[in-house]
Amino acid sequence: MNIFKIVIALLIFFLNNSVYAYKESTHEYLSSNALNISALFVDQTLLSDLGLQSFSNEQKFTNPNDINGEKITINELVKNGARFEDSLPRFLNHFYDPINNIPLTVGVELGLRSTDWALEDNGDVTSALAGAQNYSYKEAMNYFLLALTSQAKNVREQNWGNLFQTLGQVIHHVQDMAQPDHTVFGSGLYCCIISKTYVRGSGLYYCIISNTQISYYKTKN
Ligand SMILES: [Zn+2]
Repeated sequence: MNIFKIVIALLIFFLNNSVYAYKESTHEYLSSNALNISALFVDQTLLSDLGLQSFSNEQKFTNPNDINGEKITINELVKNGARFEDSLPRFLNHFYDPINNIPLTVGVELGLRSTDWALEDNGDVTSALAGAQNYSYKEAMNYFLLALTSQAKNVREQNWGNLFQTLGQVIHHVQDMAQPDHTVFGSGLYCCIISKTYVRGSGLYYCIISNTQISYYKTKN
């Protein structure tokens, strides 16, 4: 891929960025609240059946992001994941235009499709800017297997930590995909929100989204 084109595209993206995405703290809040009404909370026997303490006991597992091996709760791990997923340049893989079936594209593709990045259901993926994906749903299933079957206790605990952190990173994408900002960019340089208008450069841009079509308009100066 032409690095010069990517640099120009990134400059355009950041300089004109009108994305009203969730803040990292909002991702944490959404994820934590989802967890607290999930099957883990509703069915307190679920974790016990896997050899762990029940969810309300707030058992701690190894934090993958802490070099000292700090242990934190499942809730904290999921929140960590939801926050970490938005770090640069990972977030360039958080876009998917389902009509054109493309990732974030500003002249050139700047990342991978969110679905491929988050799920890896069509095989392992590596982003040109973010590197190999180690926190997809596919990776989560592998961490789950290792957490259940590894012989060493510390390896099992490490993989429980990896699993819950990865779940936070995967559900981050479910949250992103609920926002037009992450799905509408295919035919123009600008991300739009339904029925809102933005002043960009010398013109006024806005977009209209119908069931089957995305239209971009530019008014006169
Ligand atoms: Zn995101």
